[in-house]
Amino acid sequence: MAKINLDHIRHAYGLRPTAPQDYALREVHHEWNDGGAYALLGPSGCGKTTLLNIISGLVRPSEGRILFNDRDVTQLSTEERNIAQVFQFPVIYDTMTVYDNLAFPLRNRKVPEAQVDKRVREILEMLDLSDRAGKKARGLTADQKQKISLGRGLVRSDVNAILFDEPLTVIDPHMKWVLRSQLKSLHRQFAYTMVYVTHDQTEALTFADKVVVMFEGQIVQIGTPAELFEKPSHTFVGYFIGSPGMNVLSVDVQGSTARIGDISIDIGFAPKVGKGQKTELGIRPEFMKLSRKGMPLQINKVEDIGRQKIVRATFAGQPVSIVVKEDGEIPTDAHVDFVNSGINIYADSWRVEREG
Ligand code: ATP
Repeated sequence: MAKINLDHIRHAYGLRPTAPQDYALREVHHEWNDGGAYALLGPSGCGKTTLLNIISGLVRPSEGRILFNDRDVTQLSTEERNIAQVFQFPVIYDTMTVYDNLAFPLRNRKVPEAQVDKRVREILEMLDLSDRAGKKARGLTADQKQKISLGRGLVRSDVNAILFDEPLTVIDPHMKWVLRSQLKSLHRQFAYTMVYVTHDQTEALTFADKVVVMFEGQIVQIGTPAELFEKPSHTFVGYFIGSPGMNVLSVDVQGSTARIGDISIDIGFAPKVGKGQKTELGIRPEFMKLSRKGMPLQINKVEDIGRQKIVRATFAGQPVSIVVKEDGEIPTDAHVDFVNSGINIYADSWRVEREG
């Protein structure tokens, strides 16, 4: 499989782009490891499919190059790039049997029939479709057809990468979970380079070792699930990952103190924030602790969602959410404390590194 280099890629669908917002992809410059499992995560319209299609060769970028194992493939077709793709909706031959659908990509590459048979049977087993091998694809449910599509994507082991574009959308919730886990274990077993587009954070976080969070045509962070949770690089990541998302409060920072109205919070380090930059404090709902004598808080509503409660409150005039364990106490005269290690400071929406 291949290491993928995205070398100063920009893409605009319209002619003569000038402003940053004319670009569907503003500037993407990264190296993705051979054998990595990457999920492209972000809201609708942020550029996920555009980036995936640039990797596959369906779209030529307006600027920049794409390299597989240091070879420039920017001008090569999808076929010449030797990648497998799985789309949102099934792409299969209705008149062929399930078996022949899966065998097709291998036979097309003149793989000896004994090897085809071995590999197809493995995939049938994995997808729990062995008993339907001889059936025509036409009669199958949408679910089953999409499983064949997945199988066709996974059947060749000589591809440079396997690309998935929201492949589980039509699959029912239980099966979704099963297939996601199977993809993950296949990845562990064979170390395929996989790129998986989704707007579902659970899907991204369970599938990938590295989640690539996109926002308005940019990659705002590439990180492990823990990094995205603990150190969101951009306020958007804090808000988009986690449920509820990170609380973002407007603050003034002086030295190692953040001030919100007449409340002062010790943040434990002195962030460097430029003059005139918008300064914000980010803290996840899990790191705000209800107490009896901390900082004042006004509780507006408590939502009991089973294993935990979500407290919706106002803190220094700004709305916040706080997560409390199922058996956690909610004092009547509530106050709040911040867990210091859970505090991040943002300057113009980007996280300011703690030094030392
Ligand atoms: P979704 O989850 O809705 O598929 P996405 O994150 O995959 O969204 P893209 O489909 O890559 O986003 O779209 C990025 C931007 O490019 C959007 O503003 C979209 O309207 C625009 N766009 C996408 N395809 C085309 C096209 N063929 N022609 C013109 N504009 C396009």
